[in-house]
Amino acid sequence: MEKFIPLSIPNFEGNEKKYVNDALEQGWVSTGGAYITKLERQMAEFLHTENVAACQSGTSALHLSLVEAGVKPGDVVIVPPLTFIAAVNPVKYQYAQPVFIDCDDSFCMDPIKLRKFCENECLMSDGVLTYHGNIVKALIVVHVFGNLADMVSIMEIAKKYNIKVIEDATEALGSHYMNGPLAGKYAGTMGDFGAFSFNGNKIITTGGGGAVTANKPEAVNHIRYLSTQAKNDSHYYIHDEVGYNYRMTNLQAALGVAQMEELPEFIRRKQVNFERYKELLKGFELVKLIDFREGTSSNKWFYSLEINRNKVYASMRDIITALEQRGVQTRAIWGLINEQVPYQNEVAYELEKAPYYAERILNIPCSTQITEDEIKYVVEMIKNVLEEMADE
Ligand SMILES: *Cc1c(COP(=O)(O)O)cnc(C)c1O
Repeated sequence: MEKFIPLSIPNFEGNEKKYVNDALEQGWVSTGGAYITKLERQMAEFLHTENVAACQSGTSALHLSLVEAGVKPGDVVIVPPLTFIAAVNPVKYQYAQPVFIDCDDSFCMDPIKLRKFCENECLMSDGVLTYHGNIVKALIVVHVFGNLADMVSIMEIAKKYNIKVIEDATEALGSHYMNGPLAGKYAGTMGDFGAFSFNGNKIITTGGGGAVTANKPEAVNHIRYLSTQAKNDSHYYIHDEVGYNYRMTNLQAALGVAQMEELPEFIRRKQVNFERYKELLKGFELVKLIDFREGTSSNKWFYSLEINRNKVYASMRDIITALEQRGVQTRAIWGLINEQVPYQNEVAYELEKAPYYAERILNIPCSTQITEDEIKYVVEMIKNVLEEMADE
């Protein structure tokens, strides 16, 4: 077998099989069962938050957050252009309008541009911010690749303009502030709502799954109610609201409970491996390994190289293919969401950094199982490929 180092694969070294088997044997495979509540409690404890609702995916977690935030048709929701499209699609599910605000060098929402947009383009009256007559109801901030957004500034702006904050923490489970006014706070627990994902490529996985938290525990209870078809009574089929079939299953939760047990070890390995890459790439001028925000402890979910475009003109596709031929799987950062067909007519406000990074960032292998030798090999291949492609 030829060498193949995957970008990011799941890790089932712990009690996964044992717990899933247990759920199967007990016959609790669907949306009821003890593993679901166990996972919810485990997450709440880990995140130092009161209440967590497990659901079917990160996307449904975001959708339920928007519903609970009261986002209605026509409302404006401020969103990022440079992230996975699942962060923005739920805005469309609510028939609301996304407005794209640029990122800063952390790849997360730029608070300076956010403030400028609210100040210069919107109107504040009677505590309600409007944009061309539509209420600016919420903003979705994504902690891209596990790097925390500048939440101190973003929360201050959101408070001033009365905007609900939904944190997309799907990539940042475990990232938290170490210093400053938010010291000790975890991704997903600083805004009004926080969404998590347990998709196959995330730091822990349940196959597919997600979770929501909120700064008000009652809001999480209501979200849980909405996720189970809004059933009001345990005996009769009485429904006072339109609900969703968004609840996590016990089979998924069994996997999740085992994964949560391993999460601290997964984070530790991601952090150690990041330092290894950093050491090996030191002084290599064709790429820059992007660091994580100072004053934070990141889960370091994905590692990003910025390609030096003054020297390497090759397309991302060519770079990725050349590395693939050497057994190293990599990927390009996402295409801009505002350029995708369903979003081409939406407002994109002064984008500069997002398009800049869209053509420069390459993600490199970051699985928790990657060995030190494999990291050395990856770096060697990156150096070979880029040196070959570089313009003298
Ligand atoms: C993975 C991801 C989601 C969606 O999570 P799913 O569980 O796949 O629905 C949303 N936003 C971002 C930024 C993601 O990376």
